[in-house]
Amino acid sequence: MIEFRAVHKAWGTNTVLDGLDFKVGHGEKVTIIGPSGSGKTTILRILMTLETPDSGAVLVDGQTLWPVQGSKRGGGRAQDAIRREIGMVFQHFNLFPHLSVVDNIIEAPINVLGLSKDQARAEAADLLERVGLTDHADHKPYQLSGGQQQRAAIARALAMRPRLLLFDEPTSALDPEMVGGVLDVIREVADSHAITMLLVTHEMRFASEISDRVVMFDSGAVVEQGSPDQVFGNPTNERTRRFLSALT
Ligand code: ATP
Repeated sequence: MIEFRAVHKAWGTNTVLDGLDFKVGHGEKVTIIGPSGSGKTTILRILMTLETPDSGAVLVDGQTLWPVQGSKRGGGRAQDAIRREIGMVFQHFNLFPHLSVVDNIIEAPINVLGLSKDQARAEAADLLERVGLTDHADHKPYQLSGGQQQRAAIARALAMRPRLLLFDEPTSALDPEMVGGVLDVIREVADSHAITMLLVTHEMRFASEISDRVVMFDSGAVVEQGSPDQVFGNPTNERTRRFLSALT
């Protein structure tokens, strides 16, 4: 489904991805862990085309996302088509502040997928029910708690019917009492969809529950990966051990 091949990315002299090779299979749920600055967010942003790799290739379902293929215009269109299959949930929700919850959800399905307003609203109603926000459909983001905003952001991402869903520390900006509700929604998405998921989180217990595989990053490369039991229960790499023991 996703393949990073020898991907490099640097900011000036700060090398963030150092020849990253990394694959995620179709339908797989993968959690990325690693110290701050190890490049976790950068790989999600490259998949969202919010950052450009300096070299290497990124493929999604066998199609080349990076580098842009063909002429700049035609290549951009091909990249947009791949990008449309990918949704992302950000640490700080990133809802449109001037739109109600339901308008946040229907904006892209109408403007990008070409759904009618009625159809988009019907799908939004189902999604709002799934994330427990039916009663908040007409509220603006500032009228919601952080947990409710994040659940709205998940509904917005799902409204685009993504084949790949990326989560960047989706609970780290939340008050502790809001975390459980957001994790319940992510768990439900993981359980009920053939969707491929890539999750960056420090919620290790949750990661063990929902992930098929845990990947430890350090200095822009994969240093260890395996089942949650292997990586959390019996890490073989010294850097993974140090990282995990610092968390507990
Ligand atoms: P964290 O757990 O703290 O979110 P991370 O593993 O997600 O860290 P990234 O956000 O991918 O790390 O950042 C990797 C490195 O790239 C960091 O050193 C960061 O400062 C640097 N970086 C990211 N974006 C930029 C930018 N726009 N300009 C300069 N440096 C950047």
